[in-house]
Parts: sequence; structure tokens; C-alpha cells
Amino acid sequence: MKQLLLLLFVSLFWLPACVNNNSAPASADEVEAAPPATADSVAGTEPGDDDLPPEQAESADLEAINPSAGSQAPMMPAMRAPAPPAPGQGRNADFLDIATLDPGIRLDIRYATDNNFTQSKIYDCPACLLRPEAARAIVRAQQLLQRKGMALKMFDCYRPRPYQQRLWNKVPNPDYVTPPSKGSMHSRGVAVDLTIVDKSGNELDMGTPYDFFGPEAHTDNMQLPARVLANRRLLRETMEAVGFQGIRTEWWHFSFRGKNYPLSDYVWSCE
Ligand SMILES: [Zn+2]
Repeated sequence: MKQLLLLLFVSLFWLPACVNNNSAPASADEVEAAPPATADSVAGTEPGDDDLPPEQAESADLEAINPSAGSQAPMMPAMRAPAPPAPGQGRNADFLDIATLDPGIRLDIRYATDNNFTQSKIYDCPACLLRPEAARAIVRAQQLLQRKGMALKMFDCYRPRPYQQRLWNKVPNPDYVTPPSKGSMHSRGVAVDLTIVDKSGNELDMGTPYDFFGPEAHTDNMQLPARVLANRRLLRETMEAVGFQGIRTEWWHFSFRGKNYPLSDYVWSCE
């Protein structure tokens, strides 16, 4: 009888959990706990900064912001913060430093300055770290552009989750910032925000500044000067040639499709 009661008890709690896991969309925690996707499974997913279908990614990516709407944006209640990094969690060896790999790649890490949509410094110091496969692909993209007398300029690379939390604390609005509990492709170390510069270091005209929210920044917007469309095409074709894929709403954002990684709390040292 005891065994029967135990069995009944276990099935009451175990069965609903199974049903829930199979039918409901993965929660943020499940996503974070999931092992890195294989190349095949990544290749089959939709593009987007946040592992969302494109139509949702449009409103959930951090980078998109209307400069005139920032302070009026409706504030959402803060979501659960990610757990503080455990000692030893995340190691520099998990990432490659673009500045070391190819010093010809320009860095303008905006979140290490106040020249960004939050108008405040989010990163303690600049760095462009990426997971090894994505970092090597960026070097290949740089080499493709060098043949044309041009170079890459990086606005953002790996974004540690604690820094994503700082952004969320500044702008707790999922229209503009990905909630840290959900995580962005940047916090997995496989996404970049970037543009192209000419041999004098001048940015090519992409139609809008970085971090501009609006149809002018959309990659399916063809109502732009031919020069702008050609520059965006060069950026897109270069990035696609090395395994990255863009998103519809931000001409500057690309995610690496070859391999995915879990979210990371590792924060680079400023010493
Ligand atoms: Zn981005």
C-alpha cells in the first residue's frame, strides 16, 4: 500500500511537469540551461539577435532605439536578474580577442563610452571578444574587405550578461533591450554589430547611424540612395560569405550561424 501511495504521489507531480516541458515554449531558464546547439540545428533556426522569429526579434533587440523616444519609452517592471557569476565561471580562454587576432580591424565599442543610446557608459572598458569560430570568421571577413582597400569597424561584440543587466537597468523596456534573463546572441559571444570603413577610416554611408530605430535602418528598406544600398549589400555579402546572417531591422547586426554557445557571465578584465 505504501508503494502504491508513493507511486500515486510521484505521478501527480511528475506527469504535469512532463506535459509542461513538452508543450510550453522554453522558459528563459530552460534556454539558458540548454546545451550549445549543434551546427545543424543552428543552421535550421531563424535569424535574429535573440533566438526569436524575425517578427519578434524586431521589437526585442537591444540595438534598435528611436533616439527621440528614449525617455518617453514605457518602463516595464524589472525582470529577475541573472544569478551573479560563480567564481571561475567563464574563462578568457572561451573567447578570442579580435584586437589581438587582427589589429587592422577597427574598434569603436560604443557601450564603453557614453556615445550610445543610453548616453551612459555601460562597459567598464572596451573589448571585442568572440567565441573562437565567430572570431576567426570575422578575421576572414576583414581579409575579404582588405583586398578592396576597406576594413571592418566593430561597434559591439560579446556582451557579458552582467553588462546586459546594466543596460536593462537603464532601459527596462523589452522593445529596446533584451531582458538579461532571456539573453541575447551577443551574450552568447556569437553576435556582432559592425560597419565598414574606407582606407582613411571613414565609415561607409549605411543610411543611418548605429543604434538607430526606424524603417530607415531596416535591411529590406529599398527606399534609400543607391550608394547606401550598395554599401549595405557589401556588408551583408561579406558577412554571409563567412557564415554570419543579418536581421531585418538592423543593418549593423549579424549573428554567427555555424555554432551556438550558451549565455555567459564572463566579464573581461580592465587591467
Ligand atoms: Zn547586435
